[in-house]
Amino acid sequence: MTALMEQGEICRPIGFVPTMGYLHQGHLSLVHRARQECRTVVVSIFVNPTQFGVNEDFDSYPRDLSRDLEMLEPMGVDIVFCPPVREMYPDGYQTFVDVEQLAQILCGARRPGHFRGVTTVVLKLVNIVKADLMYMGEKDFQQCVVLETMLRELNQACRIIRCPIVREADGLAMSSRNVYLSPEDRQKASCLHQAIQLAQRLCRDGKDKADEVIPVLTELILSRGGQIDYIAIVDHVSLQPVDVVDTRSRLLLAVRFGKTRLIDNGAIA
Ligand code: AMP
Repeated sequence: MTALMEQGEICRPIGFVPTMGYLHQGHLSLVHRARQECRTVVVSIFVNPTQFGVNEDFDSYPRDLSRDLEMLEPMGVDIVFCPPVREMYPDGYQTFVDVEQLAQILCGARRPGHFRGVTTVVLKLVNIVKADLMYMGEKDFQQCVVLETMLRELNQACRIIRCPIVREADGLAMSSRNVYLSPEDRQKASCLHQAIQLAQRLCRDGKDKADEVIPVLTELILSRGGQIDYIAIVDHVSLQPVDVVDTRSRLLLAVRFGKTRLIDNGAIA
């Protein structure tokens, strides 16, 4: 801890990377950016039970702390914070944070209570870590918008630094949940990125109406065996559907392959 103190002061800015562990290059890209920009870097590894629904994968979520610590070893992280569940949520815990509208749509509509768990744990972590900057991936686009809203509306000084999506060679966005995919589903799942690229091509060719683009993407994903949770083209701030695609629009996808639910997104204009 003394290495982090300078004349009794913690070296700021403190850059914070919250994760649920089972790290991959997407997570490490956030740590790398934080290391470049901050004097102190804190990474948390915490599989947060309150953001999982009752029938979701909290128990089976992939965990491997020693592998995670090995991956972080060369990254120059100052603190890895891995709190036990009972420390974050002692018996009788009863305080939650809700971002009302933004948390009810898209992933929030399919995963009731999910964002309430996310906002609650992230506010607790930001307060514990005393983070100045929080590094988050645009892979979880709605999460970025919800958390920025929460930090702003609750007068938190911490700011989110959004980082680009890191992808596998075939375009699949890296995710800890990709390990659930069977080899066949893993191959099929590359259609999410193909759908984003197809939407970009359609828009370049002047097909910029959401109700022209979405059916074409639907057909592509269904033909590859994906079960669509939603395909939406939304305003990047309000997350409300748009009729015509422009530079403020974002394509958001949530698709199941087998039992695995994947999300992806991209700008398409
Ligand atoms: P998670 O461990 O899934 O909760 O993710 C922790 C952080 O890593 C979140 O800010 C995610 O958006 C970010 N992240 C996850 N996957 C990627 C990726 N493929 N590219 C960039 N950031 C990612």
